[in-house]
Amino acid sequence: MTQNYDPLIDAGPGNGLSHVPSYWAATAGELPPDDGAAPFQIETEVAIIGGGYTGLSCAYHLAHEHGVKPVVLEANRAGWGCSGRNGGFARMALGRLSAEEMIGAWGIETAKRAFEIMRASLVNVRALIADGKIACDASEAGHLKIAHRASRATALRREARVLQQAFDYPAQFIDAADLHAHHIGGTQSHGALRIPDAVALHPLKLAGGVLRMARAAGATVHTASPVIKWRQHGAEHVLTTPHGTVRAKSVVIVTNGYTPQFLHPALRATLLPVLSHIIVTRPLTPDEIKAANFQTRHVLTDTRKLLYYWRRLPDDRILFGGRGLIADRPGRNHQQRDFLLSELKIKYPGLERVTVDYDWHGWVCLTRDFLPHIHHALDDSSVHYALGYQGSGVSLSLYAGQLLAHNVAGDPPANALPAVNSPLARYPLHSLIRIPQRLMYLRYKHLDRSD
Ligand SMILES: Cc1cc2nc3c(=O)[nH]c(=O)nc-3n(C[C@H](O)[C@H](O)[C@H](O)COP(=O)(O)OP(=O)(O)OC[C@H]3O[C@@H](n4cnc5c(N)ncnc54)[C@H](O)[C@@H]3O)c2cc1C
Repeated sequence: MTQNYDPLIDAGPGNGLSHVPSYWAATAGELPPDDGAAPFQIETEVAIIGGGYTGLSCAYHLAHEHGVKPVVLEANRAGWGCSGRNGGFARMALGRLSAEEMIGAWGIETAKRAFEIMRASLVNVRALIADGKIACDASEAGHLKIAHRASRATALRREARVLQQAFDYPAQFIDAADLHAHHIGGTQSHGALRIPDAVALHPLKLAGGVLRMARAAGATVHTASPVIKWRQHGAEHVLTTPHGTVRAKSVVIVTNGYTPQFLHPALRATLLPVLSHIIVTRPLTPDEIKAANFQTRHVLTDTRKLLYYWRRLPDDRILFGGRGLIADRPGRNHQQRDFLLSELKIKYPGLERVTVDYDWHGWVCLTRDFLPHIHHALDDSSVHYALGYQGSGVSLSLYAGQLLAHNVAGDPPANALPAVNSPLARYPLHSLIRIPQRLMYLRYKHLDRSD
C-alpha cells in the first residue's frame, strides 16, 4: 500500500505499513515488540487511537500512575506518524507564540504558566528517557534560533531580554561575529537567540522506548489496527478495526496531523495537516565542516515564517528540514528534496558538493489559533483528545500524553492553561482550506524575503 496518505482526502493512513524509509528507520535497529493486530473482540475501559508519542505516553501514564490498562490502536506501527520521522529536536515550544506574543495575548501571569508548561515538557522528556533507560542517542544540545536576515536580529535580542526579565530564564543573544566565531558560519547567520535547554535525539528510538515502557506498565499496543468505523452504543464506544471490534468506556484521539476526516465530529473542520520535508546529506568531510564552520551541535532553526530546521548529526551528516508540498503527490516529492538541498547550499556555499542520502516527509498539525489543544468532545466527556503541536511537538506531545492521562482518569491537573485546555475552533470553509494555505505560503515567502 502507498505511503502517500492525504488526511483531507483519504479514508485512513493505511494498515500495517512499514516506517517511511528515513535515516531514522535505517539506523534505529530492531524496535521493541508490540501486541500485533487487534483480535476479534476486545473490551476495555480506555481505547487510545494513535500510537505516536501522545498515545504511547498517555498509555504509559494511565497504566503506571492511574491503574488503568488502556488499549492503543495504531493503524501502522508504533511511531509510524510524525513521532518516528521528525527532526529529533526536543525543545521548548507551545504552538507558535514567542514569549512577547504570549505576554501580549494572555498577560504576564498566564504567560508565565505557559512557559512553565514548556519547561516541564522538556523535564518530562529527560525523565522518561532516564526512567525507561531509553537508548535514543539523546544529548543536551541547546537551541539556536538564527536571524536569516540582518533585520531579524533586533527581534531576537528583544526576545532574549523578555525571556530573561519576565521569565527569569537564561536565554542569550549571540551577535553575528560571536556566532561565526564560535558556532556556525554561512550567508544567513546574522546573530542568534540561544535557548540553553533542548535535547537532540533519535526520534524513532525514543518512540520504541516509550512503547516498551507503556507495555511494561500494563498497556496493550495493537499495531496494524486502524479504526475504520466508530459507533456509539449507549454509553459504550464501538470501534471497528479490520479484524474486529473494540468496546470502550472512554476513547482518546491522538492522531494529530494523520487524523482522517471521518474519525469524530469533535474534530471536524478543526485541523489543517501540513507537510514538513526532511533531507539528510551524506556525512560531511572535515574540509566541508571547516568551510561551513559547522562547529555547533545545537539544534538550529531560523527566523523565517516558513522556517528551516537543521542540525549536525552524530555521524556528521546534516539533517535539514522545511515545509513540504501542499498535497502529498507521488512522484513530486523529489522536487522538494532538490529545493531543500539548494536552500542548504545557499546558506553554506562550502557545501556545494554535498549530496542527499535520505529524504522523507510527514504531516504536522496546525489549528486555527496555532495552539495545541488538550480537551474533550463538548457533548461527550468520554471522548478526549490532544493534538495540534504546530510542528514542534516532540517534548510537548509526550507531556500532553501525561496531562491527558490525568483528564481520562478524572483527575485533571491543577495548572490548566485556558487557551490550551479548551475546545478546538473550526476553520470556516474547511473543505477549501488549501486555497488559503497556498495564499498563506505566498505571503510568508514574501515576508521571509523582505526586511
Ligand atoms: C518531518 C517532520 C519533522 C518534525 N520535526 C520536529 C522536531 O524536530 N521537533 C519537534 O518538536 N517536532 C517535530 N515534528 C512534530 C512532532 O514530530 C509531532 O508533533 C509529534 O510527533 C506528534 O506526535 P503524536 O503522537 O501526537 O502524532 P503522530 O506521531 O503523528 O501519531 C499519530 C498516529 O495516529 C495514527 N492514526 C491516524 N489515524 C488512525 C486511525 N484511524 N486508527 C488508528 N491509528 C490512526 C497514525 O498512523 C499515526 O501513527 C516534526 C514532524 C514532522 C512530520
